[in-house]
Amino acid sequence: MPLLARMVATPLVIDVRRGATKDLPEILADQRISARGRVAIAYGSSCDDVVEGLRERLPVADCFRVDAATVDGAMELAEAIKRSSYDAVVGIGGGRVLDTTKYAAARLGLPMVAVATNLAHDGIASPVSILDQAGHRGSYGVPPPIGVVIDLDQVRRGPVRFVRAGLGDAVSNLSAIADWELSRDVTGEPIDGLAVALARTAAEAVLNRQDDVASDEFLVALAEALVLSGIAMAVSGTSRSCSGACHEISHAIDALFPDKAASHGEQVGLGAAFAYHLRQDHERTDQIITFLRRHGLPVRPADIGLELDEFAAAVDFAPQTRPGRFTILEHLDLTPEQVREQVHGYVAALDR
Ligand SMILES: [Zn+2]
Repeated sequence: MPLLARMVATPLVIDVRRGATKDLPEILADQRISARGRVAIAYGSSCDDVVEGLRERLPVADCFRVDAATVDGAMELAEAIKRSSYDAVVGIGGGRVLDTTKYAAARLGLPMVAVATNLAHDGIASPVSILDQAGHRGSYGVPPPIGVVIDLDQVRRGPVRFVRAGLGDAVSNLSAIADWELSRDVTGEPIDGLAVALARTAAEAVLNRQDDVASDEFLVALAEALVLSGIAMAVSGTSRSCSGACHEISHAIDALFPDKAASHGEQVGLGAAFAYHLRQDHERTDQIITFLRRHGLPVRPADIGLELDEFAAAVDFAPQTRPGRFTILEHLDLTPEQVREQVHGYVAALDR
């Protein structure tokens, strides 16, 4: 009988706990990623001391400081790494550093290990690298990391806002999946049930918890939700299960109001709440808003420094940020005046 199954490439190791970073040499050796620790370490400016602590334990590793998350910066990193021979590239830092490292490793055909120091986004284990190029932010497909290390001690050291932002990104999966299902029903777009199961389970896991970022168990649940979201994207080869109208609105805010842009997770959480308002799914809208409020995340445009008209302009522009992606925004195809009415209606409902 033929074995009819899908082979799914996933990371060799996923290690989420306090103090995980200091065990990086053992993780690399045990997983046969690098027996001697001959790796290139790319790190962000806030990780100087982490890297300092690793130098002694990884004496044959070379370290490269990464600054802006740009295509040029990633190419420069790849050029620098190319001058020597390494078993793998390790990225240590937040989303910008991981995205730059993923892209550089992909250019070189080297495996990449992600050591995430915050939980602000679902790019930790994803096959996507978000980089700026000539004043424009683009998403680039890359191989997903083969190792994911999340050190809760590092996460705790960063601003709590960065942890909360990840909650917005995780819960926005629900809105993204609603968009994907809408597109299946309206346009016949194929949907990937495994990606949907992973991404939806991840979002529901954090949505239904009663504790908050003060608890380590909550951080583990959030970290796992973000990792599963990345794997959902990897198994389906599309970001569809984690990115819909919520993300189009966020990309539009970045494009139109770069000076005001809040963090990605904060924006997509608000975008998801507004998208549910557009779907007239009152139960989900209330559930998402209650969740966002409980964790101190933005629910109003004013919470991220935007006037209602500015937010409406972003919603109006949003479909142009992901041409070809069908969401509730493309489905309703609202006029600018209708968008304004919906934005005012959303904010008025918050006060009720
Ligand atoms: Zn996202």
